[in-house]
Amino acid sequence: MDRAHAPQRRTTGLLVLLGTVLLGGWLWSSLFGHVRAVEATTLYPTFEVAAEPLVLAVEPGEVVRGSLSRGQSIFGLLNRYGVSADQQQKLLESARQITDLSRVRVGTPYRIHRGADGHMTSFELDYSTSRLLRISATPFGFLASAHPIEFTTRSRTLSGTAGNSLFAPLMGEKGGPDLIRRLRNLFAWRIDFNRDVRPGDRYHITVDEVWRDGQFDRFGLVRYVRLSVRGQVMEALRYGAEFYDPEGRAIRGTLLPSPVEYAYISSHFSTARRHPIKGFVKPHYGVDFAASYGSPVRAAGDGEVTFAAHKGANGRLVTIRHNGVYRTAYAHLSRFGRGIKRGVRVKQGQIIGYVGSSGLSTGSHLHYAVYRDGRPVNPLKLDYTPISESVSLALDNEFQLAWDTMRLAVSRQESAPAAATDPTLAQVAVR
Ligand SMILES: [Zn+2]
Repeated sequence: MDRAHAPQRRTTGLLVLLGTVLLGGWLWSSLFGHVRAVEATTLYPTFEVAAEPLVLAVEPGEVVRGSLSRGQSIFGLLNRYGVSADQQQKLLESARQITDLSRVRVGTPYRIHRGADGHMTSFELDYSTSRLLRISATPFGFLASAHPIEFTTRSRTLSGTAGNSLFAPLMGEKGGPDLIRRLRNLFAWRIDFNRDVRPGDRYHITVDEVWRDGQFDRFGLVRYVRLSVRGQVMEALRYGAEFYDPEGRAIRGTLLPSPVEYAYISSHFSTARRHPIKGFVKPHYGVDFAASYGSPVRAAGDGEVTFAAHKGANGRLVTIRHNGVYRTAYAHLSRFGRGIKRGVRVKQGQIIGYVGSSGLSTGSHLHYAVYRDGRPVNPLKLDYTPISESVSLALDNEFQLAWDTMRLAVSRQESAPAAATDPTLAQVAVR
C-alpha cells in the first residue's frame, strides 16, 4: 500500500498538468474557434440596426414562420420587419458564401424572429433539406452562419376506414396528400384504387413522422401497410429499400424503361407552354424514339388495351390502362400487333404494334407517353430500378423475423384500449 503513494502523487501531478493543458486547449480552441466562426461568415458594419442582438435569438421571442410563396422575394418579406433596402443589400452580401438570397425557391421555409419593436432580430432560411442559414442582427452588423437542421423521428400508426376513397380520412392531415400519393404509387400494380375500393374498406399504416422544433414537419419512411380491400387483406413490409408481401414478393411493379429498340431519342418530354414573346411553343407530352420502320413495339406493363385505332395526328394509336394510376400511349404505328384491340388484356413485353410514321409524323418513330393519375409524366424520369430477386426471401430468417416483429407491434397497438371501440377514433385512430 505504501508503494502506491508515490505513483499516486505522480498521478495527481499528471492530472493537474493534464487539466492545465486541457484548460489551455479549451481557451485556445474557444478563441481560435471564435476566430474561425467569424472567418466563416462576413460582418458588415450596419450600426443603424436596432438590436437586442443574439440574446433574442436564444430567447423564444416572437417567431414568424412561413414559406416563400410565388412572386414573393426574401427582400419584400424582410422589408415588412424593418429591414431597409440598404440593409438588405448587406444581408445579401453577408449570406453570399452560404446561399444566394436573390434566388430562393418558392416554398422555401423561413423563420423571422422579431424584437419588441417588431423589427427583425434574426432570420433563418432552410436553404437545403438538411441545412439552414441563420442571419443575426448584431450591433456590429449582420452575422451569417450555416447550421445543420435537426430532425427527430418517431413512429406513428394511422388507421381508418374508407369513405369515398380509401385514404379519405388522411386527406386533411398535414402531409396526408403526399403520403396518399406514395401509397397509391406503391400499390398501383396490386390495387386499382378507382375500381376496387369500397366504403368500409380499412387501412393500417405504420409510418415515421419527422419532427422539427417540436412541430410535425412531414411523414418519413413508410414501414408497414395493411389494407383490407373488398374482403382481401394485403400486407406490405419495408425490407431494405423495397416493400414485400409476407411471401417475399415485391409490391412495386415497373414499366419497361423503353417499349421499343431505338436508335436515338428524337424529341424529349416537355411541358413548355406558349411563350408570350417567342410565340407558339407546343408542349410535348411524350418521348419520340427514332426506330427503324416495322420494329416491334411492346406493352410497357400488364394492362388492358383501351384504344387501338387511327386517331388524327397520332396516326395508329394504342393506349393501355395498366392500373388505377398508370396508362401508356403508343402513336404513329405502321400496324397493330396480332389480336390487339380495345378491351384485350396484354402482358408486359407483349408486341402491341410496329413502328411507323402514320398521322402527323416526319419520319419513322414511336411517340411514347406515360400518364400518372391522368397527367403526362416524363417516361425517362420514372423509377426503373429492377426489383431485387425476392423468391428466396420467404425462407430467409431475418425476413421472417422482421415480419414477426412488425406484426407483434401492430397487434399490441390494436389491443390497446382506445383502439377501434371509440367511434370517433374509427375514422382516424391516432396514437
Ligand atoms: Zn412525339
